[in-house]
Amino acid sequence: MQTIDNFNFAGKKAFVRVDFNVPLDENFNITDDTRIRAALPTLKKILGDGGSVIIGSHLGRPKGPTDKFSLKHIKNHVSELLGVEVQFANDYMGEEASVKAAALQPGEVLLLENLRFYAEEEGKPRGLAEDATEEEKAAAKKAIKESQKEFAKKLASYADCYVNDAFGTAHRAHASTALIAEYFGTDDKMFGYLMEKEVKAVNRILNDIQRPFTAIMGGSKVSSKIEIIENLLSKVDNLIIAGGMTYTFTKALGGHIGNSICENDKLDLALELLDKAKAKGVNMVLAVDAKIADKFSNDANTQFVSVKEIPDGWEGLDIGPETEKIFTEVIRNSKTILWNGPTGVFEFDNFTHGSRAVGEAIVEATKNGAFSLVGGGDSVACVNKFGLADGVSYVSTGGGALLEAIEGKTLPGIAAIEE
Ligand code: AMP
Repeated sequence: MQTIDNFNFAGKKAFVRVDFNVPLDENFNITDDTRIRAALPTLKKILGDGGSVIIGSHLGRPKGPTDKFSLKHIKNHVSELLGVEVQFANDYMGEEASVKAAALQPGEVLLLENLRFYAEEEGKPRGLAEDATEEEKAAAKKAIKESQKEFAKKLASYADCYVNDAFGTAHRAHASTALIAEYFGTDDKMFGYLMEKEVKAVNRILNDIQRPFTAIMGGSKVSSKIEIIENLLSKVDNLIIAGGMTYTFTKALGGHIGNSICENDKLDLALELLDKAKAKGVNMVLAVDAKIADKFSNDANTQFVSVKEIPDGWEGLDIGPETEKIFTEVIRNSKTILWNGPTGVFEFDNFTHGSRAVGEAIVEATKNGAFSLVGGGDSVACVNKFGLADGVSYVSTGGGALLEAIEGKTLPGIAAIEE
């Protein structure tokens, strides 16, 4: 497999798929440019070698061209960060992008308009009538799949080589994340530095495990984490269940959870998971106490109670001190740690204590030699909120992509380069 370090980009044009899906305020100012900065090492390597770059990205979930999601809003910021005046192509199924790409000189950068302005990027039909028949839907799907290939081929025609640095979309078989790779030889397609780091971190969690291996699964719902929990049961030594999921497990075990969040249709599933864990010798670590609130609000009245005895009218919004002790003890003794999802409603300052304690224990374990991977949307927000990001081994930029990789699924964006 080709690597970015081994590739000499001198005189070459590289199509680089990045994830510049950054948050913008109402005046189109970037409020967090982490994702752009994350791609800089890759872009700078190519330019430093004497290559030129065609950047492709999505922004938001547009259903067609719209000013709100135009990448022109970020063009100047990318220019500033790269120290190179970035050119822009509005239209890349017409002539504009082909002409601009063909004219690119070493050291120059062309940013393409939002790839998702074209339905072909995602390969999903748009504008189907609500009363479309099944035949019409099938025909539209077939047509878009055909034109998706043409779209990928056109994008590929702008460049001599392809670099995928967009881990966040690696779980999507989109034109620019996967299909495009078919049009490049094995030696001319590779991961960017960010993608390389992400793939390495996931492989370490999946294949190179130092024990004990502890996963902390938090967040709101069991249903959204079920596949990952099942997959982890055959890998981890300890599985800590935290966050809103706690109460589905507690209720399934006969506890009284008051008004806490609960998926009543997942009670049997929770018991099944506990049985599976037992059969596999996995230590399932559940909360024993909770910080409860009399309303879903930061200024609710609060108290600490046993997780099994939450009064009606009250709901658990974080773990309690006993649980914190249990969780952090397990974490401190671990050598591999995966954290996905907060222990409570960390967006409310009065319910951050558990998540912070878990984060701090992970940092401590990491100092003592553990490998720790934090990933999946909210846990990243958590470590950033508590200023702990530098203390863990790796903070993944991928939400859905990371979870699917850990579920054991093949990610199209990775497979397209690795095969
Ligand atoms: P997820 O996207 O599944 O990782 O869930 C993250 C969300 O779960 C965060 O927005 C938390 O506020 C929420 N959450 C965590 N614990 C609880 C809880 N006990 N009750 C309600 N929501 C929770």
